[in-house]
Amino acid sequence: MTDILRRKAALRERVSGWKRAGEVVGVVPTMGALHAGHLSLVEAAKAACDRVIVTIFVNPRQFNNASDLENYPRTEEQDAEKLAPFGVDVIYVPDPDQIYPEGFATTVSVAGLTEGLCGAHRPGHFDGVTTVVSKLFLQTGADRAYFGEKDYQQLQVVTRMATDLDIPVEVIGCPTVREADGLALSSRNLLLPPEARAAAPALNRAMRGMADKLMAGAEIATLRPLAKAEIVAAGFDEVEYLELRAAEGLAPLPKAERPARLLAAAWIGGVRLIDNIPVG
Ligand code: AMP
Repeated sequence: MTDILRRKAALRERVSGWKRAGEVVGVVPTMGALHAGHLSLVEAAKAACDRVIVTIFVNPRQFNNASDLENYPRTEEQDAEKLAPFGVDVIYVPDPDQIYPEGFATTVSVAGLTEGLCGAHRPGHFDGVTTVVSKLFLQTGADRAYFGEKDYQQLQVVTRMATDLDIPVEVIGCPTVREADGLALSSRNLLLPPEARAAAPALNRAMRGMADKLMAGAEIATLRPLAKAEIVAAGFDEVEYLELRAAEGLAPLPKAERPARLLAAAWIGGVRLIDNIPVG
């Protein structure tokens, strides 16, 4: 089994040996409850780095809802078993005081990119993400960091943060892994009641239909109400947002006039699901 480290001093000691030997270090930050989406990031990191660290930390600061934090699946033992075949070098599961010691008073915050989409509906979420991810970058000293396009806005925000703070890490985005029925893999899928799980692929299905029409020149404002109605008719309780944005920089677009991304968040069975796909 892979070594699990819980203290940053032990991690630093391990990494400094690798760095002295000139090895390239990759990190895959996660909140655990690992699935094939996470494992695809691990695979990408293993293929390109000499050493790979997987971090598991359910970061309270990025939850804007107490029950979401409480219900979030925690499966450390199974996670370690799932990682075993990949030959990662360290699993870093920091004790809470290693991330937020007493008196901790700093927030890392990215403006602009964080203001719409999930940022508009989850106050404080991205500040929590950028604060913890900047700490994980500094604690691991990784040269490369692997993130999923599944959380497309997060990928953009984290890339901006690393650039702006001169953290010497290359942020690498990896494609979304999906179930055969199109549902994007997510740790939160475990929380879906069976009926909601059966209906959940309707979100991606509607988005793919929209992408075809956007490619043919349709406007998002025309397509949105129809798609929302279709998603709700399929069993979703509410569509939080359904937006067309520039693939780089996330500026709102009326039409797919340049490389674009269609992004959505919707509620089903008490669970908030997000998805996004490229358009053009
Ligand atoms: P999380 O544990 O949900 O914070 O996710 C950890 C990392 O895994 C993030 O970079 C996510 O974008 C990525 N990830 C989550 N789900 C998927 C997926 N279905 N495909 C690819 N990457 C994913």
